[in-house]
Amino acid sequence: MRRINRLNATTGQSIGTPGQADYEAGNVPICFSGWPLSQPAKPFPSLESDLEADVVVIGAGLAGSSLALHLAEYGVDTVLLEAGQPGNGASGRNAGHVQPYLPSFAPLKAHADGGRRFIDFCVENRNIVFELCGKYGIEADAVRSGMVDAARKRSPELERKARLWQSYGYDVETVASQPLKQMLGTDCYRYGLHWREGGRVNPYLFTNGMATAAAALGTRIYGDSAVVACEREGQRWRVRSAHGSVLARRVVICTNGHAGNPFFADLQRTQYPLVACGLATRPLPQAVLDIVNPARVALAQYPSGLYPLVIDGRNRLVTATIPGPGRAQQASTYFDYFLRYLHRTFPEIRGERIELESYWTGMTANASSVYDECYPKLYDVADGVLALMNFGSWGNVMGPLMGMNLAQAICDDRPQDCLLPLEKAKAVRFPGLFETKIRRVLIPMARIADRFSLV
Ligand SMILES: Cc1cc2nc3c(=O)[nH]c(=O)nc-3n(C[C@H](O)[C@H](O)[C@H](O)COP(=O)(O)OP(=O)(O)OC[C@H]3O[C@@H](n4cnc5c(N)ncnc54)[C@H](O)[C@@H]3O)c2cc1C
Repeated sequence: MRRINRLNATTGQSIGTPGQADYEAGNVPICFSGWPLSQPAKPFPSLESDLEADVVVIGAGLAGSSLALHLAEYGVDTVLLEAGQPGNGASGRNAGHVQPYLPSFAPLKAHADGGRRFIDFCVENRNIVFELCGKYGIEADAVRSGMVDAARKRSPELERKARLWQSYGYDVETVASQPLKQMLGTDCYRYGLHWREGGRVNPYLFTNGMATAAAALGTRIYGDSAVVACEREGQRWRVRSAHGSVLARRVVICTNGHAGNPFFADLQRTQYPLVACGLATRPLPQAVLDIVNPARVALAQYPSGLYPLVIDGRNRLVTATIPGPGRAQQASTYFDYFLRYLHRTFPEIRGERIELESYWTGMTANASSVYDECYPKLYDVADGVLALMNFGSWGNVMGPLMGMNLAQAICDDRPQDCLLPLEKAKAVRFPGLFETKIRRVLIPMARIADRFSLV
């Protein structure tokens, strides 16, 4: 694996090898992720003084960075505090798929209007990733290359999905073997859903791009400034890091799973945590680039989604999967699975040199134990304190969207008008069950089914 960027972005010192616990917790240092550039951008300074602001946002992932950027667009005086640097969490570790549709409508039953406003907003702003990159000149390898859900046989579910999203004006259709073969370079898949919308993005660069754009509009951003306390002070809140604090009327917590945070610890129990691993190959030989996925779509296998893959702007294959229990540190195991999948799917590339460049893990925080129903949550934590979190595996579009929507609601001083229902934080039951179900049962079964072409 490459060694070039195993340096701490702030201190420039080399980083030691992470242990099994770091991989299992999804927090190996971000420089192990395949997305950051080998030359990190200038880091944001740490908070070393006592400040005042209208709003403090805690956590600079896709959600917090989008929120800060959109608050800045409205001219709201905002401080963004991040424990590492922007993109340090799941946002700098994901698979880079830009999915501009909703995975399920079931969670919308909890919305007062059945989700009508939510759907309209998501449909209208479904290109937010590409629009923000265009508007702010964010160079994040964001390409609207389309997506394919590739299946081995005809699927009424994919047909239903095509009809549903066509009715919302999406450019999506079911496709048969021949066009699929042209797009993907394999005849393993006989049926699929071709979305001419969506595509890929480097989520680390995108998150950093939003944060940088917010800073240019006046947001004060501090990195290496983990929040350790959030205390009431009169009508406002004092948000403390190790060496400074910010006094503000409103606080928004965007820390994803909230693990290890001492303030508002109840938020830690609102989700089902699930570790995922990602890997990137070295730039591929031309012979592989000519055969694998010539249309350069974001590819997901239906129904398993075992090896979602993109070929990025550096001609690397990037994928993500869920590691087996206690095996999250085993880079070679998951690279071998991936290689075997590639060889089965594209037999012509057997013998070509495909090498692992980066392997990393990240933590997803899921608000539902049903994978497709993991919508984000907006919690009413205390008077003046909100939490926007638990984005599951759908953060690349949902994070920026919900950040934009919440910024508008905060600006209007009406968080209750946000598209997500304002809820009290509630502990989920049996938080380990989801992980057990997926890591011990569903993924091993899916690997066997894929290996023997059973689905
Ligand atoms: C391997 C993997 C693959 C994925 N693939 C996809 C995909 O292809 N498409 C997609 O849409 N989504 C995908 N996801 C999901 C997506 O990455 C997440 O939904 C999204 O990143 C969540 O964004 P966030 O801003 O809520 O959280 P995060 O990105 O985790 O941000 C939270 C931030 O809060 C900071 N923080 C925590 N505590 C503190 C504190 N006390 N003080 C200050 N800061 C703090 C953290 O350092 C972190 O930067 C994937 C996730 C993983 C792990």
